[in-house]
Amino acid sequence: MPDLMEQITSLAKRRGLVFPSSEIYGGLRSSWDYGPLGVELKRNVKDAWWRAMVQLRDDVVGLDAAIIMSPKVWEASGHLEVFTDPLVECRNCHQRFRADDLQGEPKTCPNCGNHTFTDARNFNLMFRTHMGPVEDGAEDVYLRPETAQGMFVDFATVQQTSRRKVPFGIAQIGKAFRNEITPGNFIFRMREFEQMEMEFFVKPGTDEQWHDYWIQERLRWFTDLGVRPDNLRLREHDADELSHYSKRTVDIEYRFPFTDWGELEGIANRTDYDLKAHERHSGEDLTYFDPETEERYHPFVIEPAVGVDRAILAFVIDAYRVEEAPTAKGGTEKRTLLALHKDLAPIKVAVLPLSRNERLVPAAREVFDLLKPSWMCDYDDAGSIGRRYRRQDEVGTPFCVTVDFDTLDDRAVTIRDRDSMTQERIPVASLVEHLRERL
Ligand code: ATP
Repeated sequence: MPDLMEQITSLAKRRGLVFPSSEIYGGLRSSWDYGPLGVELKRNVKDAWWRAMVQLRDDVVGLDAAIIMSPKVWEASGHLEVFTDPLVECRNCHQRFRADDLQGEPKTCPNCGNHTFTDARNFNLMFRTHMGPVEDGAEDVYLRPETAQGMFVDFATVQQTSRRKVPFGIAQIGKAFRNEITPGNFIFRMREFEQMEMEFFVKPGTDEQWHDYWIQERLRWFTDLGVRPDNLRLREHDADELSHYSKRTVDIEYRFPFTDWGELEGIANRTDYDLKAHERHSGEDLTYFDPETEERYHPFVIEPAVGVDRAILAFVIDAYRVEEAPTAKGGTEKRTLLALHKDLAPIKVAVLPLSRNERLVPAAREVFDLLKPSWMCDYDDAGSIGRRYRRQDEVGTPFCVTVDFDTLDDRAVTIRDRDSMTQERIPVASLVEHLRERL
């Protein structure tokens, strides 16, 4: 039996969820494309985050900042100077590794088994490119390695235009780029990925409480969306691991099959480091004036930061199962199931005519047309009904609606539930309401 990650990667490819980018050219290591079902899943994850972090709150507003920002941003943030990983090179095979990835004393090359390495050298993780029509004399710019700086440089404008009072947050979802030395483990570590970050600005002195608050909120977001609590844990960064801007960082870790525990989300107390640094470099005043206490200060910042792709991986791993299911003939067969939370499922309802019979097709099309304005639906008429149920199960579709010959007389359809596999006969007239209660 292939291991869990192989099964999941193969399902993702087979069903068009996620597959290697530019595959006809042999792919590009660390770049992945989301296919028709993957793009739905990804949108659902982002929507769930936006809903929890922005829509349902009155103290967080959204932002969509540019990916290519002024290079001065990265000077001020410290990324040009310290956004580096110490790298060592094997003296025998010349492969490079992250120094902190090499285990054991003496350290052993995972590629050739040799034991001698060069001294660690720093390698900047930012992608550099040129802006302007000619490379000569063009300005060097960078693809952002995190979305967070957009919230810091726009802090004053957003605060004033949205007329928010501290404490309040600015949230953003968008692409980030890191020239990772060792990308891999499917979509766990990519060079182009997407982040969901929120910078929550608070009065100094209240930062520690707010930090604890956001750790709990973010943990709850994952469990509310179906991640098993025993696959999650909190891990405190120790002093020598803390980022240059952080006073305290707590990671939400997930039990990934390939690393045992790995970072899913980081929740950092970034203090007033970023606002002060941008104020120094730009000369613009980035203080906040509290109209009630008439105090002026640099807010502290609590930052929950999570990767969209890494979150998807955790949701899919937790939802994936292979079980024995009863067949119509009284036996059992293996069914692969993606028991995703209904909010995350790429397709909510599949409409399945019992056959391609010309009397059934218009009735099934009518049901499809009835449901598609409310939910992402699939119309599938290929193969036996059993086969079609299995196909929907393995991509996590919560409900299948079957249109059969009785439908033509009784104007009712059969709804099958993904998890319990129970079936219910429901009048077409009350179908939307029935599904709305369950979705
Ligand atoms: P790691 O230690 O795994 O390199 P990090 O501590 O550098 O991660 P942060 O800078 O805290 O990561 O970024 C916030 C989140 O963005 C991470 O928790 C992760 O979910 C996501 N993330 C970071 N780097 C990548 C990557 N290369 N590919 C996919 N997601 C990533």
